[in-house]
Amino acid sequence: MAEDFYKTLGVDKNASAQEIKKAYRKLALQYHPDRNPGNKEAEEKFRQISSAYEVLSNPEKREKYDQFGAAAFEPGAGGMGSQGGFGGFGGFQDPFDIFREVFGGGGGGGAAFYDFGGGGMREEDLNAPETGSDIRVEIEISLEEAFNGASRTIRYNRMVECPDCKGTGSKGGAGRKVCPQCHGTGHVTMAQGRIRFTQPCPTCKGAGTVVENPCARCNGSGRIKERNEVKIDIPKGVYTGARLRKSGAGNAGFNGGAYGNLYVVIYVEPNSNFERDGDDLYTDINVKFTLMALGGSIEVSTLGGKAVLKVPAGTQPGALLRMKGQGMPRLRGGGEGDLYVRLHVEVPKKLTDEQRKKLEDFALSCGDDNNKGASEPFYKKFF
Ligand SMILES: [Zn+2]
Ligand SMILES: [Zn+2]
Repeated sequence: MAEDFYKTLGVDKNASAQEIKKAYRKLALQYHPDRNPGNKEAEEKFRQISSAYEVLSNPEKREKYDQFGAAAFEPGAGGMGSQGGFGGFGGFQDPFDIFREVFGGGGGGGAAFYDFGGGGMREEDLNAPETGSDIRVEIEISLEEAFNGASRTIRYNRMVECPDCKGTGSKGGAGRKVCPQCHGTGHVTMAQGRIRFTQPCPTCKGAGTVVENPCARCNGSGRIKERNEVKIDIPKGVYTGARLRKSGAGNAGFNGGAYGNLYVVIYVEPNSNFERDGDDLYTDINVKFTLMALGGSIEVSTLGGKAVLKVPAGTQPGALLRMKGQGMPRLRGGGEGDLYVRLHVEVPKKLTDEQRKKLEDFALSCGDDNNKGASEPFYKKFF
């Protein structure tokens, strides 16, 4: 996929975040499957627009894209995607989720169209307050951490309001003035030979106004990049794919709009001793065949420590015994899952003479005398 995200959205490489959002909104409404029922082409286009917007609307992803191209976002490219078993990472977000995020409203596409329906597309006011974009960070935790709960400090980059100009972009609060190039229209008409075409104004990047006296620290953008640190509490019972939200820890908004959110996506690493299935855990242990035959108790390691497992007499190899409440805590409350212990037979490798004698007697008492010859030294069979 050699997709050019800028072309997909029809914006140029220096497009501002506002232009990118505007382009996305326009195209997403045009190609939304609800408006193009049964049109596979529109559906594909909608998906492409969504992927392009997902990358270009996020300063970090956009930087990565500018550097490495679309390949950096293919499933399996770098990061956690390459570790397998977690296909969601490395790929793209659901196009409908993005649509809802941008247009707001939880009720699916219909809710967004309610605002826009009828009178056609509404021209967006570029100077209206706009909430900043969300940031998504993925972290790996161990199964023990998911069991006990944990806290982590997340370090990431985000755009914040420039402290020098308080986000206005202008030095000394001079404010904005009408763009001298486009006289406020936001676009300019260019001529190349006989062909004339309209494009976003390069001076104001489509906004129609420019900062009167640009702030030196942020170059008039009103925002600067900042390394941020946020401490998050990881709840007990958390699972791979769970999203923890930190409100207001995303990117700064525009024109006085609120900050976006930070979403921390959890990936629980596999554990060599415990396999997880929902809130239940599975583990394998070896026990002596005498314990399985006679029954008894054995101490088992659980994620919470040690616990005693009762083994009934006559338990068969491969039996799965349940230890109630020894599984993962349930994230949404309501107790714990169970731990299932799979029993494997441990056969003694060496026997003392006395033990051998007893086992032979045992075998004989079962009417099974084949063992006798087999266990004796080779030469004895012939004399
Ligand atoms: Zn500034
Ligand atoms: Zn302009």
